[in-house]
Amino acid sequence: MKNCLTKYAERTFKKLRQNLLNTVLKQEMEKMRKQIFPWKRRKLLNYNIKIKEAKLDWQTLGQYENNRDKNKYNYTHTILIQKSFVYAVNKLPFKSLRKRRLKQLRKVIQHELCHAFVYERYECVYSNLSGKNADASPIFLAVLTFVDGISNYDFINFFEESELYNTVKKFKKFEELDNYLFDLLYEYNQVAQLLKEESNVEEFTKLKINNYNLIQNKFEFASRTPGLEKNFSMESKTVMTDTNGRLRNTNILSNTFRIGFNVMPEDIERLYYRKKYKQGRYYNNTKCAYVVYNKNNLRKIYEKEDKNY
Ligand SMILES: [Zn+2]
Repeated sequence: MKNCLTKYAERTFKKLRQNLLNTVLKQEMEKMRKQIFPWKRRKLLNYNIKIKEAKLDWQTLGQYENNRDKNKYNYTHTILIQKSFVYAVNKLPFKSLRKRRLKQLRKVIQHELCHAFVYERYECVYSNLSGKNADASPIFLAVLTFVDGISNYDFINFFEESELYNTVKKFKKFEELDNYLFDLLYEYNQVAQLLKEESNVEEFTKLKINNYNLIQNKFEFASRTPGLEKNFSMESKTVMTDTNGRLRNTNILSNTFRIGFNVMPEDIERLYYRKKYKQGRYYNNTKCAYVVYNKNNLRKIYEKEDKNY
């Protein structure tokens, strides 16, 4: 089988390359199925998967995507492989080179399959925490480690020194890892719920104070960074005078934090308090001032927007 896959083709046809991708995908799926469900008569994935070559960004060898947003209960996983890379598997002049490329292709397909598997199995669990199959997500990297997969991101060296890596390495059966990951997601969700919102709305509406503060926090898993990154912040500050001429301030802050593999659930609260007022990587800050004459007469006297996207 292997020989047939690395046969030298003077010209490489699209059909030939597609056959190669289909064959390798099938083999890698079966290999991963045996690692994950060795004693079960079940498929690795419940939904359809297809693979095709594509012209990707020059440093990308493979990419995963799905169309769940179009068809929630019957979506298709798609793996895209860099076209020039597929070419090399049967177009390079020496068999040894073709073999090396084939080996590399297997690893790329395995990595992308892992994105598909993690998405299918965990993405809907505590769906407020999105991106479980993102490249720096603890869930994704745990499964990737279990199946002996590789990642080309530089952060992978840090991952191998992390607490999570050492924990995952001890698991012999997928069931153990699976239970651990469900438990871990439960804990991440507990913290995310705890930190979801901070506000003093009660005192403000009872007119005890003149400043209304609301902070809303969304958490998702990271694709590039190992730590807790504040990816996005949107701050809106409004000053108004009410009908009695009293100054009233409202400050509304919405944050999106990204959780990388180095952040365990127990670390989040500490890191959150350190970063909650810091500007996000992408930010949008607005300041407004109003004068309120009566309920129906409100005049904006000042507005300023500052954003970096
Ligand atoms: Zn990836």
